[in-house]
Amino acid sequence: MQKVWESHSVQETAVLAPEIINFCKNRRIFAIFGDLGAGKTTLIKAMCQSLGSADTVTSPTFSLVNEYLRPGGKIFHFDLYRLKQPQELREIGFGEYIDSDEYVFIEWPELAEAILPSETVKLELTHSGKDTRNISLFYA
Ligand code: ADP
Ligand code: MG
Repeated sequence: MQKVWESHSVQETAVLAPEIINFCKNRRIFAIFGDLGAGKTTLIKAMCQSLGSADTVTSPTFSLVNEYLRPGGKIFHFDLYRLKQPQELREIGFGEYIDSDEYVFIEWPELAEAILPSETVKLELTHSGKDTRNISLFYA
């Protein structure tokens, strides 16, 4: 299954976020691919808001994971950019987050790809122009 959206602004990305969440109603794990500045954090911020979280979403580049509250549960936001080896995932208890049944959003998921469950939603963000972003969704 694949679906593609085009966003022309941060505001438009915010409007698309609930659509993406609704489209993947029964999914909890989202791997978000894209270069620096592609809009991964911006999209996650909007998805957290659309899940009803009032928490401030920031890039967990140094902490690796941020935890936000939402009505009825939590959201774990990973940024694996600084990770060097897949073994480090075990040290941070990545598997427990994945098995938690909470929402998990992962920026720079490449190193974790091999251990992500098959129900993971893949979102790929690409720039095309200054403010235009293509958001492609893949799911098995
Ligand atoms: P990443 O986490 O992928 O490095 P960020 O979300 O931190 O990217 O940054 C994306 C940047 O692109 C922000 O400065 C944002 O304002 C800008 N931007 C421009 N157009 C869009 C758009 N359509 N959707 C999302 N971000 C956009
Ligand atoms: Mg980011």
